Amino acid sequence: MIVRNLQLVRDRITTACFAAGRDPASVRLLAVSKTFGAEAVIEAMTGGQRAFGENYIQEGVDKIVAVRTWEGDGLRPSSRHSSGERHSSPAEWHCIGPVQSNKTRLVAENYDWVQSVERLKIAQRLSEQRPAHLPPLQVCLQVNIDGGLTKAGVAPEEALALAAAVARLPRLQLRGLMSIPEPAPDFVAACAVHQRAAGLFEHINRAGVLQQPMDTLSMGMTADLEAAIHAGSTMVRIGTAIFGGR
Ligand SMILES: *Cc1c(COP(=O)(O)O)cnc(C)c1O
Repeated sequence: MIVRNLQLVRDRITTACFAAGRDPASVRLLAVSKTFGAEAVIEAMTGGQRAFGENYIQEGVDKIVAVRTWEGDGLRPSSRHSSGERHSSPAEWHCIGPVQSNKTRLVAENYDWVQSVERLKIAQRLSEQRPAHLPPLQVCLQVNIDGGLTKAGVAPEEALALAAAVARLPRLQLRGLMSIPEPAPDFVAACAVHQRAAGLFEHINRAGVLQQPMDTLSMGMTADLEAAIHAGSTMVRIGTAIFGGR
């Protein structure tokens, strides 16, 4: 079921890209596996999926450990995964939920990406706590693009200064922006809010404060994937359409 759902989501992405005149290879799929177990992640991996998003930090770490054990098994020639099911590259883990100060070490030590950075203090802790043997932690700033009810994310007018400061931290690599707008009533309204995020993304890249431009605009979920791609998303975060209802 998960493998079939993944194919349906990939088809949606391809169709949306063609409708928007974009190359389907310009949009990555992040499978949001929150509340589902390691078996669901492993099933998605057998369907070719590599990038997974988790909201709850400790739940994600437990899953990361379980999946790495499975990946380790797969590398042993005698393992039951050694033939047809062998996987070429390991899973890539994205933290997409709120990060409190007391959870930064877990994130820095276990995840590959964190997309929910909204304060410099949290970014500084993540940089200090990122272990030397790991590559820099890949970071997106969460932007409160519509002043939404959750109020999570940096205000758009403060995003440029935060981006400039985060980009200077040694153990982080600033990759882009992430947004979670409130549900929109229709396609046009959803496009409008995603276009605001895309405009902010370009504004920051053109401001001349970053050594390297950002390459990731993370927006679009199960309900608004098409609108997000129309507006320029380079990474859609899909849970329900892959793993089912929560
Ligand atoms: C849960 C979640 C998603 C996935 O939402 P679906 O509607 O299930 O596709 C994407 N991004 C974030 C930040 C989430 O918390």
